[in-house]
Amino acid sequence: MTDNIISTAVIIGAGIFGVSTAVQLARRGVNVTILNDGPPANGASGRSLSWLNSARMRSEPYHRLRVAGIDRYRTLAAKNPDADWLRFDGGLTWDADDERNEIDAAYRHEVSIGYDAQRLSAQDVSRVVPGLDTSGITPQGAIFNPGEGWVDLPTLIGLLLKEFSELGGVVVTDQGAAKVVIEGGRAIGAQTANGDLHRADAVVLATGPAVPKMAAE
Ligand SMILES: Cc1cc2nc3c(=O)[nH]c(=O)nc-3n(C[C@H](O)[C@H](O)[C@H](O)COP(=O)(O)OP(=O)(O)OC[C@H]3O[C@@H](n4cnc5c(N)ncnc54)[C@H](O)[C@@H]3O)c2cc1C
Repeated sequence: MTDNIISTAVIIGAGIFGVSTAVQLARRGVNVTILNDGPPANGASGRSLSWLNSARMRSEPYHRLRVAGIDRYRTLAAKNPDADWLRFDGGLTWDADDERNEIDAAYRHEVSIGYDAQRLSAQDVSRVVPGLDTSGITPQGAIFNPGEGWVDLPTLIGLLLKEFSELGGVVVTDQGAAKVVIEGGRAIGAQTANGDLHRADAVVLATGPAVPKMAAE
């Protein structure tokens, strides 16, 4: 590798963003160290509903990002057809029977952008999703999106970390909050709470909701 190509990286955060970024870099030959404050998946990724969707009204750029994400998860599902941690059985949603009910507007919006959507009454739902107790479905009905899915993020993070370790990646967990170390105006690595410095050509912030504050610092 030449001097201006990144050969080492430190990633702060072992949620789905940090761990998937780490595997992608390791597959390309970068020596990566992940630093996490607690055990892997102890942030949003460990609590997520993990519904793979771009349902309802969203901005065009955010919709495109979410559809790109669903595309990658479909590729992963095709490679793991028997996985019980990743499924594309479709998504069903409905709203409360009050003034915030947006089922009609959401359905019209989804159809207008070509997002696969079906408007269902409670009776239709029992046909499409057999076994579901439909008594809670409100008179405005529900939307079924056949192309949507679900992923168990802690399981996926565990599988990605296994590949990461096999590629020689280093995972440092349960070390408290790490911080970026700056020298001469650029990031030269990251330091764990106990003072261990991990030098690298690049530092990736994957600390979930803490990213804006850490980047600002
Ligand atoms: C209840 C809930 C439901 C959700 N449902 C959905 C859904 O249905 N569909 C969907 O697409 N998204 C959903 N999300 C959002 C989705 O889960 C998150 O966008 C995603 O998990 C974020 O991943 P991340 O890796 O960026 O952050 P995180 O998973 O939060 O990972 C960041 C990691 O960094 C660690 N960390 C933070 N600061 C430091 C530091 N200084 N040093 C070391 N480590 C640090 C944290 O402990 C954490 O492990 C949901 C989120 C929640 C909370």
